[in-house]
Amino acid sequence: MPEFTMPKTYDPRGTEQRLYDWWEAQGYFKPEQQMESGLADPNRTSFVITMPPPNITGALHLGHGLTAGLQDLMIRYHRMKGHPTLWLPGSDHASIATHAVIERGLAQRKLDDLLREIGFPLPEGSEGLGRVDLGRDWFMKLGWAWKKHYGGIITEQHRRLGTSCDWERERFTMDKGLCRAVRTAFVRLYERGLIYRGEFVNWCPHCVTAVSDLEVEYEDTTGNLWTVRYFLEGGGHIEVATTRPETILGDTAVAVHPDDERYKALIGRTAILPALGRRIPIITDEYVDPAFGTGAVKVTPGHDPSDYEVGKRHDLPMINIMNRDATLNEEAGPYAGMDRYEARKALLRDLEASGQLLKREPHDHALGHCQRCHTVVEPMLSAQWFVRIQPLADAALQAVRDGRIRIVPARFAKVYYNWLENIRDWCISRQLWWGHRIPVWYCDDCEAQWAALEDPTECQQCGSTHIHQDEDILDTWFSSGLWPFSTLGWPDDTADLRRFYPNAVRETGYDILFFWVAREIMLGLAMLDEVPYRVVYLHGLVRNEEGKRIHKSMPDAHKYDPLFAIEEYGADAVRYALLTGSTPGQDSKLSPKRIEAARNFANKIWNAARLVISNLGDGLRFEGFRFQVEPSNLELADRWILSRLGKLTADINRLLENYQFGEAGRQIHDFLWGEYCDWFLEIAKLRLYGDDAEAKATAQQVLAYVLERTLRLLHPFMPFVTEEIWQNLVRGAGSKEQGAGDGYQPEALMVACWPEEAGIADSEAEAQMGLIMDLVRAIRNARAEYDVRPSRRIAGLFGAGKHARLLSQQQMTLSSLAKLDLAQLQIAEAIEAPEQAVTLVVGGVTVHLPLAGMVDLKAESARLSKELEQTVQRIARTESLLANSGFTSKAPAQVVQRERDKLTELQAQQIKLEARLKSLVR
Ligand SMILES: [Zn+2]
Ligand SMILES: [Zn+2]
Repeated sequence: MPEFTMPKTYDPRGTEQRLYDWWEAQGYFKPEQQMESGLADPNRTSFVITMPPPNITGALHLGHGLTAGLQDLMIRYHRMKGHPTLWLPGSDHASIATHAVIERGLAQRKLDDLLREIGFPLPEGSEGLGRVDLGRDWFMKLGWAWKKHYGGIITEQHRRLGTSCDWERERFTMDKGLCRAVRTAFVRLYERGLIYRGEFVNWCPHCVTAVSDLEVEYEDTTGNLWTVRYFLEGGGHIEVATTRPETILGDTAVAVHPDDERYKALIGRTAILPALGRRIPIITDEYVDPAFGTGAVKVTPGHDPSDYEVGKRHDLPMINIMNRDATLNEEAGPYAGMDRYEARKALLRDLEASGQLLKREPHDHALGHCQRCHTVVEPMLSAQWFVRIQPLADAALQAVRDGRIRIVPARFAKVYYNWLENIRDWCISRQLWWGHRIPVWYCDDCEAQWAALEDPTECQQCGSTHIHQDEDILDTWFSSGLWPFSTLGWPDDTADLRRFYPNAVRETGYDILFFWVAREIMLGLAMLDEVPYRVVYLHGLVRNEEGKRIHKSMPDAHKYDPLFAIEEYGADAVRYALLTGSTPGQDSKLSPKRIEAARNFANKIWNAARLVISNLGDGLRFEGFRFQVEPSNLELADRWILSRLGKLTADINRLLENYQFGEAGRQIHDFLWGEYCDWFLEIAKLRLYGDDAEAKATAQQVLAYVLERTLRLLHPFMPFVTEEIWQNLVRGAGSKEQGAGDGYQPEALMVACWPEEAGIADSEAEAQMGLIMDLVRAIRNARAEYDVRPSRRIAGLFGAGKHARLLSQQQMTLSSLAKLDLAQLQIAEAIEAPEQAVTLVVGGVTVHLPLAGMVDLKAESARLSKELEQTVQRIARTESLLANSGFTSKAPAQVVQRERDKLTELQAQQIKLEARLKSLVR
């Protein structure tokens, strides 16, 4: 028997790292190990989560804490249930974010050490050297060096939370295998005709790349609507309205509705473009709304998506008037070289001067901004790669409609349908370097263009070696869309792919349902003809206690930094606060106080466990923590707590199966704190510290058993403190678990079996114990009301009716918990009311508490008399106020009502005081 070494207070700092390293070294995070050791049954369905890969540029925030906490909870729960369980971690190259970080670091010379290390030290005086000067190969090298140095930080931070991932399977969206997966997916879609070259996109002039529709965030803005006059060849004019006057320079037509009588005569005539003098036709198109503005619209196919469609229908010239940074190009004539807003001002000035600017009116419209940098995006003509999305979207819709994938909470299914039903083709090319280069090659000597898995050396068509690869890279979400299978070895038919695909759950924030989840479903179905997972669980944002988004710039931001909170309160506290504060699909509020309360909960369990374990005694052995007590030795409290444990176990199983994680965590808390610690432990102490060896052994066993089972239930929420207590409990008990015949002996709580069976519900014990608890509460309240010293033992006379036998059996418990004097305790079916006593009626039992033993009668009677006198005076004052019609007619109604309420309250108090005084002097 080892010495008892459980420290007095729980120290997360000294515990968490040690336990984590040990768990990992034992191989518990690995499915192979789980199956070898006998914990997991290889024939059962695997439970797999591929962790949403955090960006390598990121730092751990509470959102990661929540998502990692939820996933670890599910993983630990299923691991204990005996499923082969895999949580595969990794990180995302985050092309646009990382690209920007490296480019900025280069400009600010923050990456000099890294550059030296990779053998590219910047020469003295090379401050102006940027990405383009240094070239693509070099930039990629720097990217990899950056990834090596900084990319692992966030992964390491995840360990602090206790995430039980299989780190040996860790993947990165740009590692070798995943690059092959990306190429394979691209080539397959290309060969199926689902990838094509389009020419109109949303362009971010700051990021200098095309962005997809999803990456554009629309905001309502009040801008201006300008009405401009275009003169016509041969006389006359037509008026058009625009919110972006600079795009006039790209107009190639004016359009009116074919049925618009006002313009019948003008159709087919030629307008003269202001400022540039270009001749453009007046055409008709059904898409023009005659009720909007003047009913005539300018058509700018190069800079407006609807106009682009009009331009295609009418075979209009398409003119791009902008450079990549949104300055105007040579097509803009005298405005070339100006920034788009500068050009707008200059053009408006010129139109005003020529008398062609007729009107300016305020106009509300939605303006698109780049999701990353918030610059106003410019719709523009630019050759880009697109995925033809409808066939993929149809399959993805079907998978949710027919229940192959379940979305939790269900209301998000509607949002998902709505989006996929109205989806537009996905622009997947980006004008960046850090990422997956598009595997398309072009021949310089013939027209050939093809996609290839391996880098080709010559043209497929003519054999020329003068070929070049597409310069662009793929949208980051293209590679993350393959995550559930690219991480498992796909496109190879690997053992991991066969065992772990489909995954079980995709747990992520509802904000990336379209960016990511929908694309994973589309690509999973397109590549493997099988859904990527069975369940999508969506969580909300973590907000601060006022419900605001947490920003780094907030004054108390550090309190919301998970690493700070872990340092301060421990990982269990952070996890528990996050998990119990969350409801599927809803934003949650988190306050530092909640984390502190969770820390207090951990301490409470620790203290209770320490008391239990330190009283287990030397000789006690648990045969597998299976219950070894003769039923006849069980006392009422034992039967009660075992019944409550059974109920709790059933509830937790049901809640976890229904993804009600927050409620499950709260119920375990209420059981442990409210029933086990506050009641059962207090009652069991009577036996623990008593002389009856057999009763003591029973109490020890029940205490240990219930604690051990509850630790298992709580483990997925608070893995560290539960494991540390469990280790002490097992070592203290001097025994290891003997499983139910399967030979499985866990060395750790995290690989112990999950309690599934509900145990024996004992409704009689629950009812009887309920009565005892109600009696104790009532007596405690009475004591508090009479201000009885906590240590003072008082007399108690119970008229117990049919409960007389029960109360007699429980007199030790009653007297101990309610601080009654055993010598002055009377229990009978009926009992005569003594004089000067407080009388309580609880569940059919009448309790008399003689006041003589509780208070100093004389002093109490003097105190009550004084209080009564004051009450009577206040009643008189209030009554006279209310009798004054000047007051009741002039004062606001709620003030009068308040006085009336006060009077009622005072009158009730008077009656109470008189009764109490009467009971004293009788
Ligand atoms: Zn941008
Ligand atoms: Zn060729």
